[in-house]
Amino acid sequence: MKIALQGLLPEELQILCKATGQPAFRGKQLWQWVQVQGATRWDQMGNLPRALKDKLAETHTPQPAKILKESGELGGTRKWLVGLDDGESVETVLIPARDRNTVCVSTQVGCKMGCAFCASAKCGYARNLSAGEIVAQVQLVAAALGKRPDNVVYMGMGEPFDNYDAVLKSVRLLNHPDGLNVGARRITISTSGVIPGIRRLASEGLQVELSVSLHAANSELRRKLMPIENKYPLDELLKECAAYTATTKRHITFEYTLVKGLNDSPQDAAELAARLRRFPCRVNLIPLSPVEEFQGEAPPRATMEAFLRVLERNGLEGTLRESKGKGLDAACGQLRRRTQTDLL
Ligand code: SAH
Repeated sequence: MKIALQGLLPEELQILCKATGQPAFRGKQLWQWVQVQGATRWDQMGNLPRALKDKLAETHTPQPAKILKESGELGGTRKWLVGLDDGESVETVLIPARDRNTVCVSTQVGCKMGCAFCASAKCGYARNLSAGEIVAQVQLVAAALGKRPDNVVYMGMGEPFDNYDAVLKSVRLLNHPDGLNVGARRITISTSGVIPGIRRLASEGLQVELSVSLHAANSELRRKLMPIENKYPLDELLKECAAYTATTKRHITFEYTLVKGLNDSPQDAAELAARLRRFPCRVNLIPLSPVEEFQGEAPPRATMEAFLRVLERNGLEGTLRESKGKGLDAACGQLRRRTQTDLL
């Protein structure tokens, strides 16, 4: 597979150009085309010498990702099936709100985590995405919007901390002041609870937001929903989260998907609050999105509101997220690896 230009920092592009016998400023021009203009074809890059482009094209590509299919729904949510160079595909989602556009990117083709209610692992795991393939998803959405998206959330297919290096590099590229310049605080990485990833992120000195998927207030229940509980148990995970907030002086957002009759009782809420209120955090409640492979449904609205009130009464800040994109199979947990037949 060819190396994506979208995954290279300015200094790396300069080195690349120099290696072909070109002056370093060609690297700057290349960066400008790829990261600022969003170019995806060599012939768009009018001010670069043919010889340089021909040479680079042997090993590099300006188009590591292309749109195979687009779908949209009334609320404005849009989803793209994105094709990669080796024939694999991932899904990327745009969630517009009144004052901001949020892009949800995938970090892996498939997922290894195997959470009970998430479609992303049901279709197996193929490989990690490169930093360039992650950035290219944002560039695709920027091109569709005609402007830079405001927020980027690493909440698509895959476990970001199972692909740590590429994910962090993509953050640095998206956050680069000479590139798309998406503010670090407008970038959210969501993990199912990979402790070493949380520890490493704490040491990066980045202002990014961290979300951690919990879905249960105790190990017994969490184990039934998330196999990762066996590797990184809740107690240790929360200890690491507390350490993260102490080191970074930043809060954590916990994601809690509500499933009727499973984890939605006032007792569950009280138990959750008791465990979380020791450090700066908030809870994002997500109604279960329907997934073919999981028997379960979202609780009634009143149950979810009652859950939220118990959290609040116990000193915890929470929000009840409105689920968007269900009509497109683009909501939380509904993204999956697609095959050619899905295109028909
Ligand atoms: N793999 C990362 C990033 C995904 S973020 C993580 O697990 O954090 C997507 C969020 O939606 C996660 O919190 C995930 O657990 C949750 N989710 C998965 N399936 C869902 C479903 N069917 N309904 C609602 N939320 C779901």
